[in-house]
Amino acid sequence: MSPEPRSVLVTGGNRGIGRAIAEAFLAQGDKVAVTSRSGGGPDGALDLTCDITDPDAVEAAFTQVEEAHGPVEVLVANAGVTADTLLLRMSEDDWSRVIDTNLTASFRLAKRAAKGMLRLRRGRIVFISSVVGLLGSAGQVNYAASKAGLVGMARSLSRELGSRSITANVVAPGFVDTDMTAVLSDDQKNAIKQQVPLQRYGTPEEIAAAVTWLTGEHGGYVTGAVIPVDGGLGMGH
Ligand code: NDP
Repeated sequence: MSPEPRSVLVTGGNRGIGRAIAEAFLAQGDKVAVTSRSGGGPDGALDLTCDITDPDAVEAAFTQVEEAHGPVEVLVANAGVTADTLLLRMSEDDWSRVIDTNLTASFRLAKRAAKGMLRLRRGRIVFISSVVGLLGSAGQVNYAASKAGLVGMARSLSRELGSRSITANVVAPGFVDTDMTAVLSDDQKNAIKQQVPLQRYGTPEEIAAAVTWLTGEHGGYVTGAVIPVDGGLGMGH
């Protein structure tokens, strides 16, 4: 259990990795709010419908969280999308949609969350990136760029906000069984597993464990870090 229940906001908390993260915070006794466009989330979480690409919707979601749970002390910017295709086929819209959701919305969320954290003089921000942001991936120029951008953002925030006891870190998952990877064929999945030293996909719970550690008491001296949870796929990057 957390020593004091904290106000935690997890974007994309209705399914996949975000849901597992929200469940892990709930299990610790924290006050958890989840956002998504389609709604839903684990029992016990405040479920907010919010498209993070819409600045007004983000502002409204923060207001609701603050009224229900107090200022956000832990932000997990997890929501993300893909729009995969090779460079020459990638439209401006494919590019913008992914950058807007994965990178620009993360900036918007961190900026809004930092307001309350600066007043509290403490806070934890975690961005869910990807091994692909470090390794690159053919057919994912937009996605890889958005995920690499989170690293520069977290490290800059670490420098800007560290004096107020606010940490900013990145968790970089490898391949995890969720709706996002369900679109891959069995052949593609097997080919990926062969490249992973641990020879398997990760679970959402394994990603959640890194997030609760980073944002918990024992992660207090870690900031600007990129924590790989990828079965060894991205080693050295
Ligand atoms: P899913 O596709 O299962 O879930 C994506 C989540 O993001 C959903 O909750 C979705 O909710 C939400 N979301 C997407 N767009 C928006 C939006 N505009 N506004 C609000 N919420 C939005 O993905 P995963 O759980 O697999 O992925 C979670 C994170 O982990 C992502 O950032 C992803 O890039 C990253 N990741 C995933 C890996 C994997 O192998 N699965 C590997 C590495 C990183 P809704 O659709 O209802 O809006």
